[in-house]
Amino acid sequence: MSRRILVTAALPYANGHIHIGHLVEYIQTDVWVRYQRLAGNRTVFVCADDTHGTAIMLRAQQEGRSEDALIADMRAAHVADFSGFGIEFDNYGSTHCDENRALCGEFWGALRKAGLIDERNVEQLYDPVKKTFLADRFVKGKCPKCGTPDQYGDNCEKCSSTYNATDLIDPYSVFSGAKPELRSQVHYFIRTEDLHGFLNEWTQTGDHLQTDVANWLASAFLVDPLHDWDVSRPAPYFGFEIPDAPGNYWYVWFDAPIGYVASTHQWCQANGEKLEDWWKNPDVEIHHFIGKDITRFHTLFWPVMLKTAGFTLPKKIHIHGFLTVDGEKMSKSKGTFVRATTYLKHLDPQWLRYYYATKLTPKLDNIDLNLEEFADKIDGDLVGKIANLASRTAKFVETAGLAAKYPDDGGLFADVAAAGADIADAYETCDYNRAVRTIMLLADRANKFVADAEPWKLNKDPANAQRVQDICTVALNVFRQLVTYLAPVLPKLATEAGALLNDPITSWSQSQRPLVGTKIAKYTHLMTRVDRKKIAAMIEESKTEAAPAASAATDAGATQTWNDGPEPLAAEPLAPTCTIDDFTKVDLRVARIVAAEHVPEAKKLLRLTLSLGGEERRNVFAGIKSAYKPEDLVGRLIICVANLQPRKMKFGLSEGMVAAAGGGGPEGKEIFLLSPDSGAKPGHRVH
Ligand SMILES: [Zn+2]
Repeated sequence: MSRRILVTAALPYANGHIHIGHLVEYIQTDVWVRYQRLAGNRTVFVCADDTHGTAIMLRAQQEGRSEDALIADMRAAHVADFSGFGIEFDNYGSTHCDENRALCGEFWGALRKAGLIDERNVEQLYDPVKKTFLADRFVKGKCPKCGTPDQYGDNCEKCSSTYNATDLIDPYSVFSGAKPELRSQVHYFIRTEDLHGFLNEWTQTGDHLQTDVANWLASAFLVDPLHDWDVSRPAPYFGFEIPDAPGNYWYVWFDAPIGYVASTHQWCQANGEKLEDWWKNPDVEIHHFIGKDITRFHTLFWPVMLKTAGFTLPKKIHIHGFLTVDGEKMSKSKGTFVRATTYLKHLDPQWLRYYYATKLTPKLDNIDLNLEEFADKIDGDLVGKIANLASRTAKFVETAGLAAKYPDDGGLFADVAAAGADIADAYETCDYNRAVRTIMLLADRANKFVADAEPWKLNKDPANAQRVQDICTVALNVFRQLVTYLAPVLPKLATEAGALLNDPITSWSQSQRPLVGTKIAKYTHLMTRVDRKKIAAMIEESKTEAAPAASAATDAGATQTWNDGPEPLAAEPLAPTCTIDDFTKVDLRVARIVAAEHVPEAKKLLRLTLSLGGEERRNVFAGIKSAYKPEDLVGRLIICVANLQPRKMKFGLSEGMVAAAGGGGPEGKEIFLLSPDSGAKPGHRVH
């Protein structure tokens, strides 16, 4: 009997663009959904943008527009990115919608009714100028342990001690510079401890979680009484105001998972379905796919909310690890922080879907994108093993079509058909690595069959026509089986193969019976080899893109009105007027830092090798060691004085200068290299 399955992927935050790290999850989930549909299970796949919280509020202020305008733009960008990678949601909503607001009220009402909501005062620092409460990262001051100035409200970078923001000496708000006041404000808490017994059972039995996750929850949280969960924030906050607590808003993590339900509700409304049939129906399986960083919200808090409000609990929460690139964290300066849009400009989305599938297992390990291996796998597997089966045989049966009766193939088709159950199980359990490995071993057998039979030789003699048709019928049938098995990963290839064989691939069961007697279409390329130059171009372009919106970046400029102090100008007054001729004598150029290293004998200097494009290089000693690490500099574009008279220094010849602002601050750390906007190239003159 066919199952009814509701699938969600984590809601991307509306504060940044989709990148290849996010795509691990969306590709993993989309493959699972496509497999379920192919297997005949009724599957609904929903997602939405996660839109609330302080970060969105501050970014909208910084950009001088409304939160609604900001989140509408981001949602459009996310939808385009997902569609570019063939990720097909049945509904893609937003947590900032009426359905979600109403559902938040329903969950809240149930929690209130169950007596699980406590209220109590929380003392927090408050910026009297900006009229906003300050999270720890928005307060700075002197470390209470070692006295280092300008440390954040939760830990000291100098001595590594941790403390409360209220312990800072001479604290100030990063927004206004004002001295924060300690204010007491009511917060609302969910008393999760009341459902401790339920959580013990739900997390530890029933296979709802991977074993490692269940064990971690048991040892890290469930051994002790559970902390109350703070689910409200005082105004100002971008979110939904709590109806029975005016001036207070649900914390973004309260309304975000309810967004899964709201998105389903929108889908139900558009398709004549009832929400209860999907979220309050024990016959429906709910599957969440998430990254390991948000495990606690989904495995402790969310079940408490669902249970209390009478919604169906998830059958399974599938948790995956993070992406590394060439063994390291994604890095902007190395160009491995690749946005979805940048990837799509250079490379085929099917390649990434396939590569991730070869890496994904039910484990929580991080997965690594090795760019050389990536290219080798596409060329070796998809071009060399799969497309090859069709490209070497289809042309010989363009006129005759497939044989009317399936020929004797020594059991090849039957073996490939028999492997279907194991491959199906691998998809079901998110072990795509095993599914793909099995498929490629079968592909090896099929290629050997074709290589041994040599239809290209037989074809030279018309007397062999039947034999050639039989060989090609076998090859194209096994090709069709393998493409059916790969269809969850490579839906576009499946569509094209269906068109080639005049028989659309729509069901897993098509792998179990041969296709005979059909005409076939003219063969066109199904898969191309990877052009390594395009990978390099993608990495190069990623180096020059604007930094992803991170909380640190948001913090620095997050002000409604700018509050620029007079100190820098006072410290260094303006120079006397110069003429345009004076200025143009200085030849400022865009340059790329192609190498950077410490100068062991020099306290303040780094040795930089600058490229002005082509073969033009400059060796420069720059006094920026206190502010920059060499490894963070390589690859970035800066501005240099390119015609400065070379100067002999103790360590070698310095052939220019890099342009930087600042130069002071405690420990000389306030040095800011200048960078051109994206698009500038080494050698461009600065006018
Ligand atoms: Zn300290």
